[in-house]
Amino acid sequence: MKLSQTFIPTLREVPGDALIASHRLMFRSGMLRKLSNGLFAYLPLGLRSFRKVERIIREEMNAIGSLEIKPTVVVPGDLWKESGRWETMGEALLRVKNRLGTDFVVSPTAEEAFTALVRDELSSYRQLPLTLYQINTKYRDEIRPRYGVMRGREFVMKDAYSFHTGEDSLDETYQAMGRAYRRIFKRCGLTVIPVRADSGAMGGSGSEEFMVESGIGDNTLLLCRACDYAANVEKAACKPDWAGGEGETLSPEAARAAAASTAAVEKIDTPEVKTIEELCGFLKTGAKRFIKTLIYRAVNGELDLSSAPGNYRGEKRPSGEPGYGAAFFAVLIRGDLEVNEIKLAAALKASEVALAADSDVVRLTGAPVGFAGPVGLEGIPVIADPSVTALNDVVTGALAKDLHYTHVAYGRDFVPWLVTDIRTVKAGDRCPLCGGELYEKKGNELGHIFKLGYKYTRSMGVSYLDEAGKTRIPAMGCYGIGLDRTLASVIEEHHDEAGIIWPMTVAPYQVILIPIKYEGAVKIAADGLVSALEDRGVEVLLDDRNERPGVKFNDADLMGIPYRVVLGDKNLNLSPPMAEVKHRRDKENRLVELTRAAEELTGLVYGELGELNR
Ligand code: ATP
Ligand code: MG
Repeated sequence: MKLSQTFIPTLREVPGDALIASHRLMFRSGMLRKLSNGLFAYLPLGLRSFRKVERIIREEMNAIGSLEIKPTVVVPGDLWKESGRWETMGEALLRVKNRLGTDFVVSPTAEEAFTALVRDELSSYRQLPLTLYQINTKYRDEIRPRYGVMRGREFVMKDAYSFHTGEDSLDETYQAMGRAYRRIFKRCGLTVIPVRADSGAMGGSGSEEFMVESGIGDNTLLLCRACDYAANVEKAACKPDWAGGEGETLSPEAARAAAASTAAVEKIDTPEVKTIEELCGFLKTGAKRFIKTLIYRAVNGELDLSSAPGNYRGEKRPSGEPGYGAAFFAVLIRGDLEVNEIKLAAALKASEVALAADSDVVRLTGAPVGFAGPVGLEGIPVIADPSVTALNDVVTGALAKDLHYTHVAYGRDFVPWLVTDIRTVKAGDRCPLCGGELYEKKGNELGHIFKLGYKYTRSMGVSYLDEAGKTRIPAMGCYGIGLDRTLASVIEEHHDEAGIIWPMTVAPYQVILIPIKYEGAVKIAADGLVSALEDRGVEVLLDDRNERPGVKFNDADLMGIPYRVVLGDKNLNLSPPMAEVKHRRDKENRLVELTRAAEELTGLVYGELGELNR
């Protein structure tokens, strides 16, 4: 391809809103332009790389027997009403009406569409397992699209959905997907951190996210220095570090034993002392000697509250399903720790949790904010982090303004309704698998594999007949990869000051040929080399522009094409005639005999492809 005949509008300036390398370089190299906030157009150069990512993903999906289909992007709103996500998805879901007033959504993901398609065709266990996928446009009305295509509003996702007669079959496909994902990212030249959703200690894993390290990553990851444990902070667990200083570290059992000889609970005056820090100063002890009590409001929960204290049920769900529409919980954690609201929401099976309004705190605890505590608290369920179960002789709020309790013992003075891990794990905490030290990294999610179980097949009424002729509901898995984000992440990992440095597998062209002046003998040599390379299946961009060599070199560096070949009178007049060859990574040129250049470059290109695709 001749550069003059394509459309690669390179830029010298950096777009003002481009905060990260991939965003800057995709614009400057002429790969991408912006149509509107979160809406981008790939120009010819960008589309070539995009298609290569797409091809790698397609090959790996096909290799594991996943079948490609092409559903529509606009899907009936009724399907989303069936699954319940018409209500729960929130503002990210773009809802549109057609001229008849019928509701539609622009797919942000496609569990509903695939489940509906399979529902209509599935009758027998013989049709299972079945894995279908698409590589298709998605729309999410992200509040803050940013970092270019890393978080756009319209983007392309590969999303696969699998259907099974049981958990074993689901696990098999899930594992195959995990292996395919590792291959996809390796082939793209990406270093990913696979992050399991659970600690791995509880046996099987139901979800795995594929992260790349990134300074602007939206995810905080906890990794172990000693083993391969890696978890998202939203799920991370740690080994218990029971409270207490030197020599007074208690296990829950020891704490319970010690409680027998602990002094009775006593009320103490704590005028104007509300925060843990103020309390520490006032009582001159560390934060580990306190129980923090927070009142949370959770919405849209599936947790069964029928055994909650005082017949507490929360508000009903509008749909009338079991669970609660909104409910309050008192949440306890050791004073030095933080509650992780995502873990809390998961424990309460709620779609969201938030700290209760001040007026609700007053109503539920009988005291202003800052004086809640579990002793004598009635009327709402108490949820405790395991850290609390090892506390004996500690301080809590006393459910009255300016008062706290001291000598409080877990188990003796209060018993929570539920004990469950809700703490935010931090760097320095201990690995749940091996006890090694955890450290933090920021990460960006490129892909996700997830055992959905029966969520959609049940709510949307999918069934089949098993061998015995009995009606059953299939288990389901879903598996997504963002193509745009993957492509941008390749640039994040492979660039320098001057521009992109493409891995061969996703490079828009494999060789760029720069004639110093595209005329005369140089032109003849250049045209000859281009056809020799193209005959061998190498993708070449010929910079035939009438520009200064410096301009051409800069653009070549910016575009990041792996091999650059320069042809000029000086080297062509040598005997034998020579071409200058340089890898984008290298500083120095080498001279290669012109007659052997095509052969040699082809070997280099295929060598690198082979290495990545291995
Ligand atoms: P995030 O937490 O980054 O919003 P998500 O959990 O919403 O991601 P999924 O619903 O699992 O993402 O979607 C699968 C993949 O689609 C993601 O791993 C990511 O690569 C891609 N993706 C999701 N949202 C966007 C977006 N706004 N722009 C570009 N890619 C996206
Ligand atoms: Mg999202």
